[in-house]
Amino acid sequence: MSPIRIAIVGVGKIVRDQHLPALAANSDYALTAAASRNGVVDGIPNFKSIEEMLSAVPEIEAVSLCMPPQFRYEAAVTALKAGKHVFLEKPPGATLSEVEDLAALAASKGLSLLASWHSRYAPAVEAAKAFLAGTTLESVQVIWKEDVRHWHPNQAWIWEAGGLGVFDPGINALSIVTHILPRPVFVTAATLEFPDNRDAPIAASIIFSDSEKLALSAEFDWRQTGKQSWDIVAKTAAGTMVLSEGGAKLSIDGALVHEEPEREYPALYARFAEIVKSGRSDVDLAPLRHVADAFMLGKRKVVEAFYD
Ligand code: NAP
Repeated sequence: MSPIRIAIVGVGKIVRDQHLPALAANSDYALTAAASRNGVVDGIPNFKSIEEMLSAVPEIEAVSLCMPPQFRYEAAVTALKAGKHVFLEKPPGATLSEVEDLAALAASKGLSLLASWHSRYAPAVEAAKAFLAGTTLESVQVIWKEDVRHWHPNQAWIWEAGGLGVFDPGINALSIVTHILPRPVFVTAATLEFPDNRDAPIAASIIFSDSEKLALSAEFDWRQTGKQSWDIVAKTAAGTMVLSEGGAKLSIDGALVHEEPEREYPALYARFAEIVKSGRSDVDLAPLRHVADAFMLGKRKVVEAFYD
């Protein structure tokens, strides 16, 4: 089969860090064009907008939409109406309803839509899922604490309504949790801390439960300096499982049982090629639904103003 002619839209940090290397290393793709108001990709035709790009390069078969979530829906509709398969960076959109709308549009046109959750492809995630499937869960604690000044310097969109604030990294944890737990969970309480001068939270504390009254808590905080934490700790009948470093390492009772080199974006693009070739979509909204529920149920606390 000839490579999928793919274009990138919204050339920024994640495109340079991950999408371009993953596409260059995958013979299932031919990177054909890019569209971005300011960013450019060397060696291919570049355009200022998706509309201009799709009309100038009609042979494009698929697009990766990598702009911030508040601006993704319009681009996705444009691409689907033009008959292109669509890869959505995470989070797949600014609301649940708009992503459901895209899924329906893709289905009506026989096109593939991927709501990508890169953290689900972290190296130790499948091993964690297999471990939890074979034991009884007692409690789960998610600790996702990082320094926003280091990871998101001067990203204005992330602090605006729809930018999700600390849920931008937090949703990565939720994408793992919803994949590895044996049963669905739901939010029962939350507290969201909003800086006085921002429309998105800098920290969130969330309690979840399930039909078996599982105790699951999540602490997301962007004010962490020093050691960064991206850990999921599960107490089980077979010992304490720690999935650490964002899903890269798995330990049971302190013994490292799984560690492999990082391969999230190569695996995501392999998944996208697979669904395009088989005429399917992959749109799991569970992580975004939990974020929406935390906003719906959460107490709001105003904290000190944040400046980059
Ligand atoms: P970014 O660099 O701030 O934004 C990506 C690009 O989107 C920008 O360079 C900009 O390009 C375009 N853009 C910005 N505002 C726009 C607007 N109003 N309308 C249209 N395009 C706009 O952000 P990023 O870090 O790459 O993140 C983009 C997405 O990837 C987010 O959803 C994020 O959650 C996800 N992601 C990021 C990371 C990470 O480590 N940074 C990791 C995984 C996933 P132009 O100015 O050229 O249009």
